[in-house]
Parts: sequence; C-alpha cells; structure tokens
Amino acid sequence: MGPYVDSVGYDHDLPSHSDVVIIGGGIIGVSAALELARRGISVTLCEKGYVAGEQSSRNWGWCRQAGRDEREMPLITESLRLWRNMEAFVDADVGFAQCGTTYVGDGEKDRADFENWLAMAQPYETGARMVSGDEFERLMKAPPQGRFALHVPTDGRAEPQKAAPAIARAAIKAGATILSPCAVRVIEQSAGQVSGVVTERGRIRCNAVIVAAGAWSSLICSSLGFSLPQMTVRGSVLRTSRVENGPESCTWIGQLGFRKRHDGGYTIADGATFPTPIGPESFKFLRQFTPMLRQEWRGAKPYLSWDGLGAFFQRSPAPDRPSIFEQVRTLDPRPDMALLNRSLRTMAKIYPQFEAAQITQAWAGLIDVAPDAIPYIGQLPSTPGVTLATGFSGHGFGIGPAAGGLAARIAVGDASEAGVASMRLTRFNDGSPIILGTGP
Ligand SMILES: Cc1cc2nc3c(=O)[nH]c(=O)nc-3n(C[C@H](O)[C@H](O)[C@H](O)COP(=O)(O)OP(=O)(O)OC[C@H]3O[C@@H](n4cnc5c(N)ncnc54)[C@H](O)[C@@H]3O)c2cc1C
Repeated sequence: MGPYVDSVGYDHDLPSHSDVVIIGGGIIGVSAALELARRGISVTLCEKGYVAGEQSSRNWGWCRQAGRDEREMPLITESLRLWRNMEAFVDADVGFAQCGTTYVGDGEKDRADFENWLAMAQPYETGARMVSGDEFERLMKAPPQGRFALHVPTDGRAEPQKAAPAIARAAIKAGATILSPCAVRVIEQSAGQVSGVVTERGRIRCNAVIVAAGAWSSLICSSLGFSLPQMTVRGSVLRTSRVENGPESCTWIGQLGFRKRHDGGYTIADGATFPTPIGPESFKFLRQFTPMLRQEWRGAKPYLSWDGLGAFFQRSPAPDRPSIFEQVRTLDPRPDMALLNRSLRTMAKIYPQFEAAQITQAWAGLIDVAPDAIPYIGQLPSTPGVTLATGFSGHGFGIGPAAGGLAARIAVGDASEAGVASMRLTRFNDGSPIILGTGP
C-alpha cells in the first residue's frame, strides 16, 4: 500500500466542454491546472485513481538543484522560488523547508564530479560549495573520516503526501474541475487537431490536452499513433518513527539517500538500486535506452513483470470499452523489504540514534524514465493541441511546480513561451545524439 495522502474534495459532474483537459493528477498535472485556473482558463483534470496516488506521493521529497543536469537548471531554480512561497500561494502546509542537500564523496572521481557541477551551476547562484573537516561534521553530525561533500544550502524538501493534494485544492478554488476516479481512455482528434477526450464517464470536448500521465504517458500517446520512448524502474522507500538529533539536510551518502520528515521521522532509501520491470513493451525502446542501460547496468536489476505495466500486453485502449487505466487504478508495486532493512541498518551504522528507529511504513513507486533522463515538455508535432509534460526520470517532484506551469503556458499558446528545446519530444528520432543527464 502507498503512503497516506491528504484528501482533495473532488468535483462530481463531467463538463461537456473545457478549454484544456489534463490527463493525470500528479504534481505536474495539478501544477498545470493551478496555472490555467489562475489565468481564468477553463480546465478539467482527469485522474484515474486519486491525486498523487502514484509517483507524486511515493517520492523522497527532495527539491534539489544539486547534481541536476544543466538542461534542467532554469526550471529547478524557478521551481524552488515557487516552493518557497507555496504555503502562502496555496494557503496550505506543504511541508517545505529550505534544509539544503548534501552529497557525500570520497575519492578523486567524486571530487572532480562535484567540482565540474559547481562550475556549471555557478551562474545560477545556488550558494553551492564543497565542505570538509569541521564544517562537514557540523552539517552531517558525523565525523568526516577523510570524506568531503557537495552542499547546496538553497535546496529543500517538501512533503509529497501533502503537496500535490494542496495544489489540487488550490486549483479547484481557483476554478479548475478535478475529477477522480476518471480515467481517460483515448484522446480524440478531428481534422488533424485535438478535439476531445473520451473518459470512463463520457466525452469532454476541448481545444487542448496536457498529458501528465507519468508511467502511463507512452500508452496514452499510442492512441494518437505517437511512439514515446519510456521505461520504468521501481524505487522502494521506508519511513521511520521519530528520531531525535539526526541530520537536517537531504543527504546522499554511499548508496543511501535520506531526509528528515515534518513528523520527525526520516524517509530513507537505497538510491543506487532500481529494479527494472521487463515486459513486452521493454523491447520496443531498447535501442533508445541502450546508452542508459550500459551506464546504469549495476543498479538496473531487470526482472520479469507481467502485472502493472506488463499489462500493456493487452489490447490498445479504445473509447468504447473499459481500458487498462480503469483496471489498474493505482500502480502499487511491492517494496523490496530486504533492500530497505539493509538501508536502515546502514543508516544505524552511521547514526547510532537510528538503532532504535522502527520502520513505520514502506512502499514502492514506478518511476517513468526517458532515454536521457531529461523530461519531455512540449507540443506533440503530429497532433496540434496536445502538450506532453512527462518523463521526469526520478526527479520531477522538485521541478514539478515550474514544469507544470510551463506545460500549461505551452498548451494555451502563450506567445512569450519558447519552451525548452532540449526537452522536445522528437529528440530521439530526429538524429540528435543521446546525451545522458547527470545526477542520481
Ligand atoms: C521512489 C521515488 C523517489 C523519488 N524521489 C524524488 C525526489 O526526491 N525528488 C524529485 O524531484 N523527484 C523524485 N521522484 C520522482 C517524482 O516523484 C516524479 O518525477 C514526479 O512525481 C512525476 O510526477 P507526474 O505528475 O509526472 O507523475 P505521477 O505522479 O506518476 O502522476 C501521473 C498520474 O497520472 C494518472 N494517469 C495516468 N494515466 C491516466 C489516464 N489515462 N487517465 C487519468 N489519469 C491517468 C496516474 O494515475 C497518476 O496519478 C521519485 C520517484 C519515486 C517513485
């Protein structure tokens, strides 16, 4: 079972028309809905399960610039500005705290990687620096033992189980319609332009659609004949009971990632092991994913999966029959308890105060990955009116508020919005080289 998620208070009536329909109620979809509603544009968001039921409540909650690829830096800088003001903006607690992130390194390769990142990030005024010695000890609450760290003090954390629901409630208050459960079966087009969506409750006519469907985006795009390269990996996460006097900063050390929670416990995970479910779809995009699989083969751990996304084996979605989106309301893979127990033991070796900590809850999430680990944000060239914002590759929560806002502006043809060329949808079939994104 996934983590407990705050409630939203959904709408009940299906509108016959909406200027924009958003598919997916994760952090991206709800952020887009809020942007559009605040602009007075009629917008309906359809969520097949419940808001934040999939990745957007299951993530670690890091909102980080640290380790980000240069192509994402402008968006994450903007997103952090939004996170800092989020509480006032949505009139609810989203648990944001500017606690910084710390990547611990020990060796010449780590040092060179951190220094390269610092040089790239310099124009973004993140306040990032290398720390060692006493400063390391103060920050980490652990002796350096020859180690050093990349520290970004302007990074933060937010509570995934609170954030997307709070943004959704603000969007409803601003005039958006949010329907759940309401699966979109297919996107319809007429005369080469998007004309509506067919949901399990009926049809909504619209001028624009935003696909923010996370791990399902490739499947929904197939109803338009567009082949979106996508793979999924499984991340397991635990949260602990309250622990006193632990470190404040979101921290990456060895294979371990952890952060303090607003309830005084910690969210902990192994950040280097991401089992990859292999189903019939996996082979379709093997060529595009080969460079990533070569680089990440150690942590990838392929396993056969015939459930969840393996259900793609079924017939393509059609407007007039129940779809896989209704059969699998919420992706809820089983967490790897052996891995999580090992992570907690490692944590207790570094911090003895974790020896008495209990695992209060454990869960897993399926992460949608693009071949270069950089998201897709842009208009579908083959179907005017369809905008995609997906493929966030394990780091879309922190960047979500700005990315959703960008998708919303692209969807309504905001003339001031040029989009982000490096995030265009066609980059894997226009002959461009695949440049893998940096960072975990
Ligand atoms: C274990 C884990 C750790 C992570 N850690 C971090 C982190 O620390 N920091 C960070 O920035 N990111 C992190 N991420 C990544 C981040 O969670 C995701 O990138 C982000 O939440 C993606 O948001 P989304 O809105 O695109 O997708 P999702 O949150 O997956 O939402 C997509 C929604 O679309 C709905 N949907 C799909 N198809 C349909 C349909 N046909 N009709 C209606 N609804 C549909 C789904 O039900 C789902 O609710 C992590 C992810 C995981 C799983």
